[in-house]
Amino acid sequence: MSVAVVAGGAGFIGSHLCDALLGEGKHVICIDNLATGRSRNIAHLHTHQRFSFVQHDIVDGLPELPHVHEVYHLASPASPPGYTLLPVETMRVNAEGTFHLLELARHAGASFLYASTSEAYGDPLEHPQREDYRGNVSSTGPRSMYDEAKRYGEALTMAYVRAHELDGRIVRIFNTYGPRSDPHDGRLVPNLVMQALRGWPLTIYGDGTQTRSLCYVADLVEGLRATMNAPAARGQVINLGNPEEHTILEFATIIQELTGTGGDLVYSEPAVGDDPQRRRPDITRASGLLGWYPKTELHPGLRTTIDSFRDELATTDQSASPAAARSTPGI
Ligand code: NAD
Ligand code: UDP
Repeated sequence: MSVAVVAGGAGFIGSHLCDALLGEGKHVICIDNLATGRSRNIAHLHTHQRFSFVQHDIVDGLPELPHVHEVYHLASPASPPGYTLLPVETMRVNAEGTFHLLELARHAGASFLYASTSEAYGDPLEHPQREDYRGNVSSTGPRSMYDEAKRYGEALTMAYVRAHELDGRIVRIFNTYGPRSDPHDGRLVPNLVMQALRGWPLTIYGDGTQTRSLCYVADLVEGLRATMNAPAARGQVINLGNPEEHTILEFATIIQELTGTGGDLVYSEPAVGDDPQRRRPDITRASGLLGWYPKTELHPGLRTTIDSFRDELATTDQSASPAAARSTPGI
């Protein structure tokens, strides 16, 4: 019996990871305090015999657990409005939360994966971003509670790999989208898709020439599994993301096309300062070590995502105003 712990398993990516692990025949223990996650993401798993959910804040230590074989640490606010509203919580879950999960893995002799972020590169001066680029990060800026917390989590993971021979690895996840992402968390795809479906103007922060590279969630989860399973990934930092890069204006146009809305664009100040201007992963390491590369094209991935948001919108309040949607990121 192989037992996997997924901290943050009620979140967007974590819930898809729980599905994948259960599909492989593993027992899955999802630990989540629902700070930014949603119980609806795992509602379909509650009757699954190999799934258990513990609502718990990992900053406070861990509940009593059976012997575990794999520990995935995905617990953290992840959207810019989310970590801005929860700055201390974000720092603590990536500091104390990481410590508790590392101790669990160390004592159990389990494999460990830490979900870091492309934000570890800050507003990058090198492009595309390779893992050996050390980044352009502010330790005091408006994103520092996230960027620096993740960098600390990476350093702590490497300390356990070196000092305790932990079987640990780090992934730097680049912007990921797909079904179950919180429609109200303020991120690019949820914001623009929900606005388009409601017939509202699409919000462009800044002039829209900044870029991102979007990875579909199923591809990302395959990358997480491949990283955990590969002995060669031990002690490594690995970028996971889709290298296809577009400007925000290009994403807005594609979403307008796919939703059949030709609505207006409205330009405003970024929701959170220090907005990285260019972002694209170099995935040479992931391809070489894991044989991993993303397979889902942008248009079909967005179509599936739009369909899932359309279904969700049909069951939620449609009377909220555009301003309300932007200022209440749903956490
Ligand atoms: P999410 O907010 O949907 O999921 C994170 C989960 O962690 C939530 O369910 C939340 O309730 C839980 N959580 C937060 N603090 C906790 C605590 N103290 N104790 C227990 N549970 C806690 O976000 P996501 O997009 O699924 O991101 C998952 C992970 O991947 C995060 O660590 C994030 O930093 C990282 N990541 C995501 C992206 C992306 O594009 N989605 C990009 C880079 C990195
Ligand atoms: N963005 C935007 N309009 C929105 C939401 C986001 O123009 O309604 C931009 C944002 O300024 C950033 C990019 O889209 O340049 C990605 O933002 P997101 O919050 O998804 O994630 P980030 O990559 O900044 O963590």
